[in-house]
Amino acid sequence: MSRFFSEKYAALTPYVPGEQPRDMQYLKLNTNESPYSPLPEVVEAAREEAARAHLYSDPTALALRQALAERYGVTPDMVIAVNGSDEALNFAFMAFCDREHPAIFADITYGFYPVFANVNNIPYEEIPLRDDFTLDPEDYVRRPGKTVFIANPNAPTGLLLPLADVERIAASDPSRVVVIDEAYIDFGGESAIRLIPEYPNLLVTRTFSKSRSLAGARLGFAVGQPALIADLETLRNSTNPYNVNRMTLAMGAASLAHDDVNMQNCMTVAGVRDQAAEELRALGFAVTDSKTNFLFARHPAVDGETLYKKLRERGILVRHFSLPRIAAYNRITVGTAEQMKTFTAAVREILEDPS
Ligand code: PMP
Repeated sequence: MSRFFSEKYAALTPYVPGEQPRDMQYLKLNTNESPYSPLPEVVEAAREEAARAHLYSDPTALALRQALAERYGVTPDMVIAVNGSDEALNFAFMAFCDREHPAIFADITYGFYPVFANVNNIPYEEIPLRDDFTLDPEDYVRRPGKTVFIANPNAPTGLLLPLADVERIAASDPSRVVVIDEAYIDFGGESAIRLIPEYPNLLVTRTFSKSRSLAGARLGFAVGQPALIADLETLRNSTNPYNVNRMTLAMGAASLAHDDVNMQNCMTVAGVRDQAAEELRALGFAVTDSKTNFLFARHPAVDGETLYKKLRERGILVRHFSLPRIAAYNRITVGTAEQMKTFTAAVREILEDPS
């Protein structure tokens, strides 16, 4: 830290993304990316826009917002385009939380939430999930006035909160905002977007990173009633009006034009996920009922960190979190069927000599 760094950030612990080591070629099952590359049409769209990169991107992202509005049955003023859904989440913390409206979220959830709270000097409360990692909606109903953040399905547990529970939380207190982070919804959940016309306090954040194979392009969006979106737009235009670059805007629109392929890929990933989960269970793992593109699993004979390290030695990266409640687990991104075969073969080998 330099002596110039503002005191207000001195105690900040930044978010730590999954490792991207360069020492060898790894099978990367640690950052929940899609195993499929973008369609050629999507790559071509970026190439064409690159020739116009001397011009700023559209600060209103209008074409993309129109396409998203059509895709989700809303109007363009109900959609904001962002530089990865992380940006929408940060804007939501900035816009809808303060000392009078602290944030609440689960103790086991996306690790960026406490970082967003801290960087914005927002008080927050972490609410323990039940022992089986399910979320009790009553915990949120019981805390009126607190801005709610729920990843649904949750990460890293993979568990889906039924839409009726999301609605119950949104309906319980119309005076506070409920943010539903649907980064993984396309892999088996029902989106809360359809509730938005009824709930002016509901904001849904989405990403192109997982289900649309564009993690490296950095594209996300949020959907809410026009007034909520206008608040986020105020923050976007007060920080970085050209937040989404023109190559990414074009890739997003081209990707939506072929969204049937994206959704088909999600179905394939979900099928591979369920099969891999069964194989892990047969090997003695406890595996949560994931509705995402990753598995969350622990084995009674190998601790989480050991398994992570032994897989790494074999060139396979998974994600291990040292948080005590989940230290026994690893989060494993679902790759192609072939990649999962490589993964389960390595696990089988490790279990033969787990010491
Ligand atoms: N929410 C959750 C639960 C996530 O796991 C991620 C991915 N790290 C994000 C949001 C952010 O994704 P992105 O910024 O790539 O859209």
